[in-house]
Amino acid sequence: MRAVQLLAWQTQAQVVDVEVPVAGPGQVVIKVAGAGACHSDLHIMHMMSDGMFPWGPPFTLGHENAGWVHEIGAGVEGLSVGEPVAVHGPWGCGACSRCMAGIDQYCTDQLSAAGDGAFGGGLGLDGGMAQYMLVHDARHLVKIPGGLDPVAAAPLTDAGLTPYHAVKLSLPKLVPGSTALVIGVGGLGHMAVQFLRALTGANIIAADTRQEALDLAVGCGATSTVLTSGDDAAAQVKEATGGRGCEVVLDFVGVDATMALGVASGRQLGDLTVVGGAGGTYPMGLYTVPYEMNMRSMYWGSRSELAEVLALAARGDITVTYTEYQLENALQAYHDLEAGQVKGRAVIVP
Ligand SMILES: [Zn+2]
Ligand SMILES: [Zn+2]
Repeated sequence: MRAVQLLAWQTQAQVVDVEVPVAGPGQVVIKVAGAGACHSDLHIMHMMSDGMFPWGPPFTLGHENAGWVHEIGAGVEGLSVGEPVAVHGPWGCGACSRCMAGIDQYCTDQLSAAGDGAFGGGLGLDGGMAQYMLVHDARHLVKIPGGLDPVAAAPLTDAGLTPYHAVKLSLPKLVPGSTALVIGVGGLGHMAVQFLRALTGANIIAADTRQEALDLAVGCGATSTVLTSGDDAAAQVKEATGGRGCEVVLDFVGVDATMALGVASGRQLGDLTVVGGAGGTYPMGLYTVPYEMNMRSMYWGSRSELAEVLALAARGDITVTYTEYQLENALQAYHDLEAGQVKGRAVIVP
């Protein structure tokens, strides 16, 4: 079969021929419906090197995946061939208290996970940018509710799940009349706007450097927008909140400038959650951020939260915007992603 593989650190991915995987005991092979292309794949390709992780290339990319059950390994129960499933992407050891709670992304014993510490399919182990994908433990699969296209479910496993987790962390502060600021309306940010709309009574301000991204945000339910190409973005956000600032800021970019915008747009007792992986920093201190502002990073979401995201999507409360690319054109998808030219999420459809 064909697969999009990273063969060495700091190289472009390549489309190559590989063997179709076989399901061992406890495992499942899925026929891939879609695999999302993520900004973190670009970071993996360009910024990583030997020794940074316990794992490395070669492996098939694609860590946001959905499809249909194709082959069921010995001992797996409760699944049937042809059934549509989404793959919960972070694969932990399965035995620690966090994995038992479904938060594999914070596994305390990752070295005991499949692949000697690999983070999951597409993150050290073979991912979904291929016709078939081996899921190393059936517990990573979440059934897709009726009415939801498995191609649309693929980006929901990361581009949906990650912003969903970010919004849920701040739910108690997002009361009616509060304001949430979403910085960066790309694959994740446009979903965050929808989750805020579906789950809270907050006003939603969307900020981006691109007007078309702001147009997308309005279509997703943003109540106001701020173009951040100028240097008065924070003043515009403050003005939109009557001078108070935002209770919750979600930064889906994560460069120095967006974190600074987040702090300047926030308020006392608020939350600033950095989701974007661009590697920026902000000097946190008693006089540099509003009092009792809670600053945090975060990574992905839990298995039960993925089921919640799929339920919201099946009910039509959220819709993921995505652009389909054929497997042979996966490199074009990454090129477009890097150039900021993808509307919503890029999804590879084998
Ligand atoms: Zn990702
Ligand atoms: Zn674990």
